[in-house]
Amino acid sequence: MGNIEKLVNKEGFAFALSIDCEGTNFDKNLENNAKNLERLLRLNSKNNIYTILFITPYFADMLCKLNLVEKIKQYKVIFGLHIHPDNLPEEIKIHCPFINHEEKLLAAYSYEEQKIIIKHSMDYLYGKGINPIEIFRGGYFSMDDNTSKALKELTDINYESHNIYRKQYKVTKNLLTPVPVYAFDSNEELRLEYFSTEKLVQMLAEAIKDNKKALGITHSYLLDPEDLHYKRDNIAKDIHYRLKELIKVIKLYKQAIEPIENIKL
Ligand SMILES: [Zn+2]
Repeated sequence: MGNIEKLVNKEGFAFALSIDCEGTNFDKNLENNAKNLERLLRLNSKNNIYTILFITPYFADMLCKLNLVEKIKQYKVIFGLHIHPDNLPEEIKIHCPFINHEEKLLAAYSYEEQKIIIKHSMDYLYGKGINPIEIFRGGYFSMDDNTSKALKELTDINYESHNIYRKQYKVTKNLLTPVPVYAFDSNEELRLEYFSTEKLVQMLAEAIKDNKKALGITHSYLLDPEDLHYKRDNIAKDIHYRLKELIKVIKLYKQAIEPIENIKL
């Protein structure tokens, strides 16, 4: 059984963190951010929490350059494919002469075009040692039925992830099993950098109360606490700190609930 399957099939509440590992479009300092990834994976793994890494070709290239690919496989990670069609390395673009550099959404492309983009992105990730790849998430959650069809035909991927409230997600037939981000609407999602820590803790507590899967989301461009995004977007505490706060709540839950569940009558 794949790791994503284990996570999805777990009964009741479970928390996992997904990270969109971006490219040069968002990560102004890809190297420094990639260098801070292991620290976050260590924290999650130590607390028995899966991290789903949605990786773009540029990020895969950086992990490979820094010799981090085999290292990060030692942690509780699940690999996913992440595509921003306007931010692809030359080696992939050469196969996609139809790419419009202004177009940010994968689902804007035809079935045949998406197939070519996906095939070469998958090959690229495999070439950098990223495997197995178990799940897909489009850039800006962009995805339609053509995307699912192409993924089904070309890859072993059986899962996809998105925020169900985002308009860029246009899937109508669930060819792939959805693993959505925990969200109440298009903005209110369990996004580490988005709200105050109090608000995040409150959202997590809600998921615990409702016995739901809480898939959090964050972005590679915040892995480095010195990254310019913190100042620019006025984010007070870094994502490592925020994650620690959430883990405290999960620990409290485990101490309180699991012993009760395990009592044999
Ligand atoms: Zn992205």
